[in-house]
Amino acid sequence: LVEIQNLHKSFGSNHVLRGIDFTVEEGEVVCVIGPSGSGKSTLLRCVNLLEVPQQGQVFVRGEDITDRDCHLDAARQQIGMVFQQFNLFPHLSVLDNCTVAQTTVLKRSKAAAEQIARDTLDRVGLSDKVSAYPMQLSGGQQQRVAIARALSMDPALMLFDEPTSALDPELVGDVLTVMRKLALDGMTMLVVTHEMAFAREVADRVVFMDAGVIVEQGPPAEVIGNPKEERTRTFLRRVL
Ligand code: ATP
Ligand code: MG
Repeated sequence: LVEIQNLHKSFGSNHVLRGIDFTVEEGEVVCVIGPSGSGKSTLLRCVNLLEVPQQGQVFVRGEDITDRDCHLDAARQQIGMVFQQFNLFPHLSVLDNCTVAQTTVLKRSKAAAEQIARDTLDRVGLSDKVSAYPMQLSGGQQQRVAIARALSMDPALMLFDEPTSALDPELVGDVLTVMRKLALDGMTMLVVTHEMAFAREVADRVVFMDAGVIVEQGPPAEVIGNPKEERTRTFLRRVL
């Protein structure tokens, strides 16, 4: 579904991604772990070209989205993204947060969009909050609205960038439960996370990044349970 080849990204003289090769297969759940500043968010943002790499290719369903002739909006429509900060529209109700992109971008009718929004809000356990406004919700509820909003667009791939790290500890579980369910439903997911228990349990593959390169990747039992590389071991000793 996603194939990344020799990706390089710099901010000024800061060479953040230093040659990333990496794929995500249909239906796969891939968790990206690594120290702060290693380039995890930058990598994720390159997958939908929120950051434009200086070198390398990003293929989404075989189409090179770094190519100038590529229809980027069409490619992006296949990718949902959930950030650490929920980025909901504060002046819109929960329901409207989940319909606005459907009607403007996908040109769905208001009725169709609302039906889909109600279904996705039901999937994240918030069917009773459709009329609420974001500031009336807890952080965990807001994050689940953000997930429902992304799902309402029928993405082929969901990107998550530390979706639980801005949450109070007691709210993390609800969001992880929603993500676990999504994974079981077969959604293709690329998740940057510090939640090692989640990665161990849900990921098909764990990717460990450090200093802009992929140091090692494989099944969680190997990368987290029995890492080959010293750098991975050092990182895990600090976070586990
Ligand atoms: P964290 O775990 O703290 O979220 P990360 O692995 O996600 O870290 P990135 O956010 O990808 O790391 O940042 C990697 C490097 O790129 C950092 O040195 C950061 O300062 C730099 N960087 C990221 N975004 C920008 C930007 N928009 N402009 C300039 N520098 C940036
Ligand atoms: Mg980050």
